Amino acid sequence: MTLPVGETLVPMLFASDATYLTNFSGDGKVWPLYMSIGNIKSSVRNRPTFYAWVSVALLPSSPKTIKKVPGWLEEKQEQEAIQVHHDLLRFLLRPLSSAAQNGLKIKCADEVTREYYFRVAGWLADHLENSILHGIYATRCLICESPQDKLGCLQEYPLRNAQQYQSWIDDSDKESLHNKGVKLVQNALWSLQDTVPHQLIRSDILHTMLLGNLQHLMDWITGFLKYHNRLPAFDDVWSSLPRYPGIHVPHKSYRLLSQLSGKEMRSILMVILGVFTVVLRRKTGT
Ligand SMILES: [Zn+2]
Repeated sequence: MTLPVGETLVPMLFASDATYLTNFSGDGKVWPLYMSIGNIKSSVRNRPTFYAWVSVALLPSSPKTIKKVPGWLEEKQEQEAIQVHHDLLRFLLRPLSSAAQNGLKIKCADEVTREYYFRVAGWLADHLENSILHGIYATRCLICESPQDKLGCLQEYPLRNAQQYQSWIDDSDKESLHNKGVKLVQNALWSLQDTVPHQLIRSDILHTMLLGNLQHLMDWITGFLKYHNRLPAFDDVWSSLPRYPGIHVPHKSYRLLSQLSGKEMRSILMVILGVFTVVLRRKTGT
């Protein structure tokens, strides 16, 4: 997009996180939606005490977890629940929609009145939330049209195309939608001005990096050490790590840890190279 010279872009950031859920006496869950802007420095924005993220809505619980009403097709109930979700989002996002978007005059801290243009620039969510938000099956890629059995291949596939999907939805072409893994839903993100929905996706550090890539790395490391008969030495070094501020290392051998939290994985990331080096330098059998 291009802005008139001298005007200001405000990149809007949204975040929804089902893990922040509040349970109301077992009655169900709410799904908070937060908003911030990219003009705030990330070091400031990411500090909870600075309140740079504001809560804008508590959305209904995820469509997957709704209680199904008997005698009514489950698939239809799920689809309608997703549509309700998107209708709500469309309502919330309407000031950012194509129809509403022109510059807005705001007086800045330096007393100069400037024209501001608000555009959605990022949406932080995990994969399952993103799949609801983008109206794509959770088993498919949200960015490209890769078939399910080709995920992880190096081959490139066409990127997701909202205009194409909208026309299939208008024609009720369920088969084409299904082939590309797209749900039959009037997607709220498609109404946003100058926004390509799949470009809003940001990497999910907890699930992709810490619990995905690092877990994969740890499986590789423990497999390698086992092959070279150094797993006991690894456990030894691992469980004798001294305490250090900011690092939480469980005082159990790595193999005995069943489920690790993101925080524990982050600590492992800080020490793993050192531990691995020490283990490889040790003489075998000692
Ligand atoms: Zn892809």
